[in-house]
Amino acid sequence: SKAMASHPPHRFAAADERDASNRIRLANDLQAAIPNEELLLHYQPQLDLHSGNIVGAEALVRWNHGVFGLQSPSRFIGVAEETGAILDIGAWALRTVAKQAMRINDGRRTPIRFSCNVSVLEFTRRDMVAFVEQVVAETGCRPEWLTLELTESLMMPEPAEVLRVFRDLRGLGVEISIDDFGTGYSNLRYLERFPLTEIKIDRSFVRDVVHSPAKRVIVESIIKLGGVLDIRVVAEGIETDAELSVVKSLGCSVGQGYLYSPPLDTTAFDAFIKYHAIS
Ligand code: C2E
Ligand code: CA
Ligand code: CA
Ligand code: CA
Repeated sequence: SKAMASHPPHRFAAADERDASNRIRLANDLQAAIPNEELLLHYQPQLDLHSGNIVGAEALVRWNHGVFGLQSPSRFIGVAEETGAILDIGAWALRTVAKQAMRINDGRRTPIRFSCNVSVLEFTRRDMVAFVEQVVAETGCRPEWLTLELTESLMMPEPAEVLRVFRDLRGLGVEISIDDFGTGYSNLRYLERFPLTEIKIDRSFVRDVVHSPAKRVIVESIIKLGGVLDIRVVAEGIETDAELSVVKSLGCSVGQGYLYSPPLDTTAFDAFIKYHAIS
């Protein structure tokens, strides 16, 4: 162990190797995750910041790996994008979300919007629009109950193609959200060029608005622009009362975060709805 201590690079190399082999192991196991029913979705409630009513929920995928246990998406979404497994995972997720939306909204007077994260690889597949149409037909879920979230940092490639897909999806009635707004290419012209229905202000902004007047002005401008263009603005990652009161005072109407609730399994989500919603 003395030899180890004097050669820390060896330890790092060993850890790197272990990491790399875990990644390969995960990449291989991911193929079987759907047939083995190891993937699941948790739902994080989105609340109307003024009334406190639940108005939406974001579906977030988890992988219950047979050996390594519950894996967060940061452990496997990147791998899935590299191997292409993301296409099957995304298709499974959207279908599952649509079924869930149907189960919960059927018979509700005020439907809850369900958001599904979508990788840019899915958005640019040629049958994306037909696939969404099929899911809607197959599940009976109303298209307007579904919001597809696309991460802003990935919007740069193929803007013309993305624009066409957005228009077709909006034609179906599905809503489109730009996730992590402000962290990526940050072109405010997106807001008027793309047929968006929602933008999500990234957690990093929500955290900083409390202390940074500059960040506050940026967030305020995004919210105002959203108002003018009739795009819903959602604040993500609200953890404290201070963060809530600032985003609220800046005019943001919808939010999600640990202050209200972490992402919940379906049983806990059902219980949350029961106690927080006007039905
Ligand atoms: P995201 O879409 O930005 O999701 C928000 C992340 O912040 C989630 O992490 C959520 O659990 C976490 N979060 C929620 N409230 C708070 C809070 O108050 N404070 C803090 N610090 N964090 C909060 P999660 O579930 O680990 O997901 C990580 C990312 O993985 C997501 O970021 C999303 O980009 C991706 N992801 C999740 N599910 C899917 C999926 O089905 N498909 C694809 N393509 N990506 C997914
Ligand atoms: Ca998201
Ligand atoms: Ca986000
Ligand atoms: Ca984020």
